[in-house]
Amino acid sequence: MIDVVIIGAGMAGLTAAIYAGRAGKKVVVLESNVKGGEIVESTIVSNYPGVPDISGADLMETVAKQAEGFGTQIKYEEVLGIEDHGEYKKVKTDEGEYEAKAVILAMGTEPRRLSEKQAADAGKRPVSYCAVCDGALYEGKPVVVVGSGNTAKYVMKYLEGIASKVYHIHHDDPIPEDAEAVFVAIGRVPNTGFLKGLVELDSNGYVVAGEDCKTSCPGIFVAGDCRTKTTRQLVTAAGDGAVAAGQL
Ligand SMILES: Cc1cc2nc3c(=O)[nH]c(=O)nc-3n(C[C@H](O)[C@H](O)[C@H](O)COP(=O)(O)OP(=O)(O)OC[C@H]3O[C@@H](n4cnc5c(N)ncnc54)[C@H](O)[C@@H]3O)c2cc1C
Repeated sequence: MIDVVIIGAGMAGLTAAIYAGRAGKKVVVLESNVKGGEIVESTIVSNYPGVPDISGADLMETVAKQAEGFGTQIKYEEVLGIEDHGEYKKVKTDEGEYEAKAVILAMGTEPRRLSEKQAADAGKRPVSYCAVCDGALYEGKPVVVVGSGNTAKYVMKYLEGIASKVYHIHHDDPIPEDAEAVFVAIGRVPNTGFLKGLVELDSNGYVVAGEDCKTSCPGIFVAGDCRTKTTRQLVTAAGDGAVAAGQL
């Protein structure tokens, strides 16, 4: 039987894998997208201690290699559900199932999507959740940014250097007709939909756990951005990964 299945190959999951693998545990990491998590889309990370300036992709490539060096297997499968059988957990994916003595939840968050009304308004126009990834495609063209928080302000500033005009609207405002692309920055939601009824979630869907990373279900731990916490950054995700693995 596998000692621990870790769900998500972002900073939290891969750090947990480094610690668990180094402690001699049999570790499988399940990842539904690309390894490295959401930070791989960032061109520059300047606040990770010990690594002054590095792209998110390069940073996470190193972390993934470190985890694999301690025997971690990374498999590209989406987790659809978990069954609690007390002494062991059954993790069900789009490709099969795994039995493990423990599970670490490290699924992070994803951008909140446009409302149905705004999505209909956008019609066939491209909708992007990553200005750094897609902004360059709209050089000299009018675009619109949806959102009212700090991220929306950052996205607007970034696009002002590229687009001919940057409209700014709030959630549910009509989308200007001449905008050629819609950039969305209306917050994030945790990837925890498949956990309902298994572990305690807060009203926003985050997995309830304190600094010990223990969920309401014995044998299931949580690390990183999908946990209830005040600061969601790489360094806190890494810290959670170490703590969660230390509980095994
Ligand atoms: C634009 C942007 C810039 C940022 N810049 C910085 C920065 O400069 N410095 C900093 O410290 N932090 C930064 N952050 C925050 C940082 O990216 C996060 O705090 C960190 O990535 C969280 O790591 P994580 O492992 O918890 O989650 P994630 O990185 O989100 O990783 C979760 C992984 O789980 C996978 N997953 C989700 N659901 C499933 C499932 N059902 N089955 C299998 N796999 C699943 C996802 O595909 C993903 O790969 C930034 C965030 C954004 C959005």
